[in-house]
Amino acid sequence: MRKSVMELVRNKIEIQSRGVSVGKGLLSEMIKLFNVPWAGGTCLLFEISAGHSSKTSLACFTFITDRTPFKVKRDAEEWFIEKGGRRYVTLRFSPRPEFYGLTTGRGRAVREFITLGEYGSVRCSVSNRCRYIEAGKGCGFCAHQAWWNEGDGDTVDEIAREMPGILNEVGPDRIFLNSGTANSRDKGILLLSEAAGKIKNNTSVPVIAGFEAVRDTGFLETLKAGGVDAVYINLEAFDPGLRKSVMPNAKGQIPLSQYARNWHWCAELFGHGNVYTTAIAGLGESDESLFDFARAALDAGAFPVLLPFTPIVGARSAGFHPPSPARMEHLYIGISRIYSRYGMEPFFNDVLGRSGDAFGALKEVHEYLS
Ligand code: SF4
Repeated sequence: MRKSVMELVRNKIEIQSRGVSVGKGLLSEMIKLFNVPWAGGTCLLFEISAGHSSKTSLACFTFITDRTPFKVKRDAEEWFIEKGGRRYVTLRFSPRPEFYGLTTGRGRAVREFITLGEYGSVRCSVSNRCRYIEAGKGCGFCAHQAWWNEGDGDTVDEIAREMPGILNEVGPDRIFLNSGTANSRDKGILLLSEAAGKIKNNTSVPVIAGFEAVRDTGFLETLKAGGVDAVYINLEAFDPGLRKSVMPNAKGQIPLSQYARNWHWCAELFGHGNVYTTAIAGLGESDESLFDFARAALDAGAFPVLLPFTPIVGARSAGFHPPSPARMEHLYIGISRIYSRYGMEPFFNDVLGRSGDAFGALKEVHEYLS
């Protein structure tokens, strides 16, 4: 059993590092039936398992590309990924939720800003605006450019209006809120806080908000007041030179000390274990810089998470190559050992729990491979 889980973890790492191809006909069929695609039609979210009757499955988010050995296929019984003409893993998709068919009063598709996430979580974008994208200086790894071209403006009231029906339909175990970086000192935190407050009028489901580090840490308290339960404040890249090149905007200039201050404050406000931060592997960094990132985050009270770079269609760095599966496994094992050295068990937290499981394989490596 343990061996088959370890193989499946490696399958997941490989699929995330290489992406999958899908024929146009199959994609149209999937869109009608399932919770796909994601991020403006560029990514897929599914669960992989070793076979139809396998009890173990892992959530997996990956991108659609032609440059991959993995092909999504189906036969009369199941969907699967094929590699080199052989069946590689079996796929399970969540059914397409009914709320994907809804439009708002101003004619906007609800699924443009509320999406069904991994394991039945719900992910909401409270604003489709990002000051960096508007200035033509989006982050190189940005997953939102194509997605957010579909709509515009703030969606707090629309989220509040739709959420009771979505809570009823989906029954999520957590709700994620994110936003582009607003052109204001709070960087969108006030909108996140307002949205959390309106959602919390109807439910006690944990709300997790993501944002860029702010200079004025007083804004962080408004999140707590709004009812946010946990936060993610993603560093993305650790090395200062690399930060400036992959984030050719104000985000790339924010010093690590500002992030550390935000992580520390949030750990005080929301509790240790309710703050996390992500770095992306495959932007041109060294392995050691990612291990430095993990230590810096833990020193300041945040849990470090690592994701492979995904060359999302339409992003500035769509031509970059994602990191190799072997490198990702090595990095995950290294960060898992850092967790152990700090005496941390990051993945058994009530609020964050399985959050973000689909987007990387650190948790599985921590559990099975290290
Ligand atoms: S801050 Fe960067 S990653 Fe986030 S939406 Fe803006 S450009 Fe994209």
